[in-house]
Amino acid sequence: MSAAGTFEVAVIGAGLVGAAVAFGLRSLGSKLVLLDEGDVAHRAARANFGLIWVQGKGAGLPQYAEWTQRSAGEWPRLANELLRETGIDVALAQPGGVHVCLSAAELERRIAMLDALQTQPGFPRYSVDVLDRAQLALRLPGVGPEVAGGTYCPLDGHCNPLKLLCALHAATIRAGAHYRADHPVARIAPRSVGFVLDTPRGSISADNVVLAAGLGNAALAPMVGLGAPVGPNQGQIIVLERVPRFLALPTATIRQTEEGTVLIGDSRQERGFDDSCATDVVAAMAARALRVFPSLGGARVVRAWAGLRVMTPDGFPVYEQSAIHPGAFVATCHSGVTLAAAHAYAFAPAVAAGASPELFRPFAAARFDAAANGSPRLANGEEPRR
Ligand SMILES: Cc1cc2nc3c(=O)[nH]c(=O)nc-3n(C[C@H](O)[C@H](O)[C@H](O)COP(=O)(O)OP(=O)(O)OC[C@H]3O[C@@H](n4cnc5c(N)ncnc54)[C@H](O)[C@@H]3O)c2cc1C
Repeated sequence: MSAAGTFEVAVIGAGLVGAAVAFGLRSLGSKLVLLDEGDVAHRAARANFGLIWVQGKGAGLPQYAEWTQRSAGEWPRLANELLRETGIDVALAQPGGVHVCLSAAELERRIAMLDALQTQPGFPRYSVDVLDRAQLALRLPGVGPEVAGGTYCPLDGHCNPLKLLCALHAATIRAGAHYRADHPVARIAPRSVGFVLDTPRGSISADNVVLAAGLGNAALAPMVGLGAPVGPNQGQIIVLERVPRFLALPTATIRQTEEGTVLIGDSRQERGFDDSCATDVVAAMAARALRVFPSLGGARVVRAWAGLRVMTPDGFPVYEQSAIHPGAFVATCHSGVTLAAAHAYAFAPAVAAGASPELFRPFAAARFDAAANGSPRLANGEEPRR
């Protein structure tokens, strides 16, 4: 294969994780390359709901709650830098978010779950208000008669995730980095110094490599002594036509975009690599949305889609540097919108420094070996929807 370039850092995967890491490394300019697979790919980055969500996360791993809060806190900086550098407004709004409960029993379960979460040893507590129906209706006018209440967290928010992806790419390219679409990495060969990446368009040498290939990480990680046991988890989303603004803040499953369209999300199913929509799932999501906001019954459905989440067995991310091939890093998670700022401002600097900060220790893939040997972590580190 012909040599197609030599770089200080190669980031494999230009979805939300790879793009955020590359953005955080953009001061490398032309010494940075971002590689992607082309239009054949499964891309969670183009299929997601756009929430920046804190409440409910971290059951079984308080460090994940800390990581999530840190990212939410750094999001305004990210949105401002992207606007300044690219002119793209990613429509960040962090007015807080609501988890809506449709019955007293649902609300009880929600309160119990959040109590258990926040009373874990070492949990970084944050404020979550329990709202009864009347309090909830003040924040979300128009809720239906079945709504019993909900929980409100001031740290939650949302953005336009497609503009986010676009802006991360634009800022990175503008800084002089190379973006090579249609460069699927088939093999990573560690050398005494650095790595050689084989692609159908030639090989690429890099001193350091970041595996941010989403579902592709499962195959790539073992090539550099890492583990990324990720698999697909399907989520479906419905888009309604633009309606007059009625939602001042996002809920966990219904949000109004900056343009006025309404997104209803998002199911969660094990369906392998099937990314087709199932009408029974769409119908169930729509039915629940109508119980929350009956007025949506008058809005037309514009489209619906299904996407594949990048999911580890316990739902938590993997961040790690290879012990046997230093300079190879993996980053994989299933809340890539929420965590974009952490990837840009904490993970990327660790890569640049060649470091494995203490911060990343809880996220090492060795935890899955421990689970296999009979000391499992609490499964499903996040609430079911995200
Ligand atoms: C329905 C749904 C709703 C979601 N809602 C939210 C939400 O509200 N908030 C939130 O924070 N997160 C949400 N997510 C999750 C979020 O979208 C993902 O965490 C994020 O997109 C993962 O980014 P990624 O870069 O790891 O993977 P992807 O976006 O899948 O990107 C991986 C990229 O790697 C490339 N690639 C793969 N293999 C190779 C290879 N060998 N060589 C080169 N390139 C390769 C692919 O082409 C692809 O572009 C949602 C996801 C889904 C599916």
